[in-house]
Amino acid sequence: MMTFEMISNPVPWPAGSRGAASVSFDVDLDSMLELEHGEHARQRMAGRSWLRYDEVAVPRLLRLYRELGIKQTFFFPGWCIENYAYLVEACVEGGHEIALHGYQHEVINRLAPGEEERLLDRTIAAAEALLAGVIPTGWRSPLYSLSQDTPRLLVERGFTYDASLMGDDVPYILRSSAGDLLELPSEWANDDWSHYAVAPDLDYATQVRSPSEAAGVYRAELESARRHGALWIAVWHPNVSGRMARFEVVADILTELAQGPMWLAPLGTIAGYVNDRIADGSFNPRVDLLRT
Ligand SMILES: [Zn+2]
Repeated sequence: MMTFEMISNPVPWPAGSRGAASVSFDVDLDSMLELEHGEHARQRMAGRSWLRYDEVAVPRLLRLYRELGIKQTFFFPGWCIENYAYLVEACVEGGHEIALHGYQHEVINRLAPGEEERLLDRTIAAAEALLAGVIPTGWRSPLYSLSQDTPRLLVERGFTYDASLMGDDVPYILRSSAGDLLELPSEWANDDWSHYAVAPDLDYATQVRSPSEAAGVYRAELESARRHGALWIAVWHPNVSGRMARFEVVADILTELAQGPMWLAPLGTIAGYVNDRIADGSFNPRVDLLRT
């Protein structure tokens, strides 16, 4: 296999691990339905049922995580925290990280001025109310719609990482006027919508691939990340990857990851570790000045 060193600024991952991996699930439920379809959302029963499959898949996933003895990250929109509190509480009960993902799954970079800040604070308030003062420190913009203002707004509110961008193979820095924010990058290849999502009710359709095809893509990305010491992040959705045949792929990959040699951890734990390595000078991240 290829021995060329692709990454010029490798992360000194925890002892014994080669690369890092994290499986994040975005639990969107039917948060965006009214926002996107107004009055007609009420009639989109099939679309709503497809989205609400999260209620079947999240408990299934939590059982798998418990069996494997692993903790991972769940991203929730604020509206879901308010309307499906029991699912958030089940994730917390399992010891998993809760991170934030918009209020109603709005496209952040298309909001009117001031709206982003208002909805971010509303989302944080929803989390604080349910989680008894434990403020999530991670963020992923819905549909990866990070705006130019988002890093500053997150830094001002004490977030330790964003996971919306795709600009590197290892963590890097988003430099805002309020300070630096760690970016934990992902990529379309590891997003399950790329492989499976067919939702005519949501005006969205791609070609359904077989779980083995998607697994082939995930594994190629994972193995390369391991060989070169990169960070691999899955961006998956319970209602997409939590369905039966696809769930078998999820279970296989997680079972393998739980055995090493990559470091498998929640995104917040990885962010804390990497921020410490930046602080002690042992990791030198690339800096994105956010200029367009
Ligand atoms: Zn989402």
